[in-house]
Amino acid sequence: MTDPAPSPARHLRELPYDGESPAVESPAVFRCTERDGVVEVTGPCPRCAGRSRTVPEPLPPGTGTKGLRDLLLPRRENSAAALTDERLLARDYECACGHPHEGSGGTLGPVGCGAIWYISHLVRE
Ligand SMILES: [Zn+2]
Ligand SMILES: [Zn+2]
Repeated sequence: MTDPAPSPARHLRELPYDGESPAVESPAVFRCTERDGVVEVTGPCPRCAGRSRTVPEPLPPGTGTKGLRDLLLPRRENSAAALTDERLLARDYECACGHPHEGSGGTLGPVGCGAIWYISHLVRE
């Protein structure tokens, strides 16, 4: 099966880890999927071009900005319905391409190149 939207560049596995750079805007289209109640956002890392997969953490109860909607929803803050586009577009993403880039220093957190970005294009599948 081929990926209908391949990354423009190959995965730059030789890039060293860099956790210092400020967040950048990714021009790529990211995908939001929900499988077995787990929401994932996937897309190419703007730095290393690896395919990064993020599972947004559940929102703490009562942190919503649109009060009424949050009150009406049961405590399934990590469902695709609760994770509105607004929320997914407002947060930062950290590279989780799965490749232990040089200097990433172990197993804390997702394995990736350390890049942080935000997204402005999201499709739901
Ligand atoms: Zn990366
Ligand atoms: Zn990578």
